Amino acid sequence: MCGIVGAVADRNVTPILLEGLRRLEYRGYDSAGVAVIDGGACFDRVRRVGKVQSLAESLEESPIRGQTGVAHTRWATHGEPTESNAHPHICEESVAVVHNGIIENHAELREQQQLEGFRFTSDTDTEVAVHQIEHYLREKGDLLEAVRHAVTDFDGAYALGVVSVRDPHRMIAARSGSPLVIGIGLGEHFIASDASALLPVTRRFVYLEEGDFADIRPDSLVIYDKQGNVVEREARESN
Ligand code: GLU
Repeated sequence: MCGIVGAVADRNVTPILLEGLRRLEYRGYDSAGVAVIDGGACFDRVRRVGKVQSLAESLEESPIRGQTGVAHTRWATHGEPTESNAHPHICEESVAVVHNGIIENHAELREQQQLEGFRFTSDTDTEVAVHQIEHYLREKGDLLEAVRHAVTDFDGAYALGVVSVRDPHRMIAARSGSPLVIGIGLGEHFIASDASALLPVTRRFVYLEEGDFADIRPDSLVIYDKQGNVVEREARESN
């Protein structure tokens, strides 16, 4: 069981993401990584095999800062536990994805994407997700639409956190078969595999239901069901 953390805020989110990963360590993992969108709207990413502490030490040596970002503790299912297989995965310096679960039809998608010219830098099933989202982002021009179309091509289970430098103050989350919770802050929002990851920053949570998508910005949250209807999901207070 891996861990996902994400944030969109008006402050530097790297320490929030790192603390979130520490709080998800109990789930078990073999590598960890974080990617943020920096002030120049480019990705800064650090990934390490082993403990979150080793990621923390690398970040201390070479800090990265950004107001939007995603982070991950990986439990390898496809591809060895190496730095290049660790999440977040980034496509063409445009889209970054963290993924919990398995994309069963990854081999078939990989073949199509290679024909399209996408370059693979990992052995994971997850990398096909980031390429498929970039493929639809080019076609649709909108990150939510891109994620919505991409997931219809996936067989398997996923919780996804997606950010793009083309729309730097926005994060899209989607879940099917893997848990995902949204943390509601004051002018900021977070996602995580488990609410405990976000307790230092909020006590208000919305639990996504199967097939839900969330369109998340610092000051807004819109949730859609599988059919694309806007839905209200009750916010719960946690102690
Ligand atoms: N299947 C993905 C991988 O091997 C995600 C594993 C996970 O849920 O940590 O990278």
